[in-house]
Amino acid sequence: MTDVPETSQTRMARLILALRSQGVTDPRVLEAIERTPRELFTPDLFKERAFEDSALPIACGQTISQPFIVGLMTQALTLGPRDRVLEIGTGSGYQTAILSRLARLVYTVERYRTLMKEAEERFKTLNLVNVITRFGDGGEGWAEQAPFDRILVTAAAPEEPKKLLTQLKPNGVLVAPIGKGPVQSLRRYAGDGQGGFKVELLGDVRFVPLLDGVAREL
Ligand code: SAH
Repeated sequence: MTDVPETSQTRMARLILALRSQGVTDPRVLEAIERTPRELFTPDLFKERAFEDSALPIACGQTISQPFIVGLMTQALTLGPRDRVLEIGTGSGYQTAILSRLARLVYTVERYRTLMKEAEERFKTLNLVNVITRFGDGGEGWAEQAPFDRILVTAAAPEEPKKLLTQLKPNGVLVAPIGKGPVQSLRRYAGDGQGGFKVELLGDVRFVPLLDGVAREL
């Protein structure tokens, strides 16, 4: 018997099952992942692997996050349909696209112009009209648009991102990988409404570092 090539649908169904078994159980998050064609966000060389639950290389030495981590972080944000979200580290735009399906507006910042341009093309292709992009240093946040209901950092901050926390609403939520080494701790900061935060550890993750300034190369 010859092997019949699997359809994208079968592969996606398997990915969704894998995410669910690892604890991504929010049906709205799973639906957003299911509706977002990851192969559109991966370079040609890796399109075959778009449905694998692993991070993959993209241009500029960066990575598109592992679907499980995207699911975990999105779930931890507890997004509502009226929320305005700030994302730091657009990269391929995959995580941005997932956020855009669950929130009212997504503001996303990237320090590589090339990545930003490519991501903008993808948002256009998918008709994601509620995504607002900016080329710049995300470590500074986006003061003109603050405060945000939710903030997601998709590059590893060396320490608590104090500046970003000041751009969060009093009852907002910020999720970020924190740490200087190759393995970081994923943290969830939930505002207590009085200027303080409840901090929760969500597990170990591996992200590329959050770097200062914009990239000089393309
Ligand atoms: N969310 C992305 C993952 C991107 S990897 C995806 O789903 O594809 C992290 C991204 O953060 C990289 O593109 C990197 O260039 C970017 N980055 C790192 N430091 C940054 C900074 N200070 N400001 C903006 N983007 C930054």
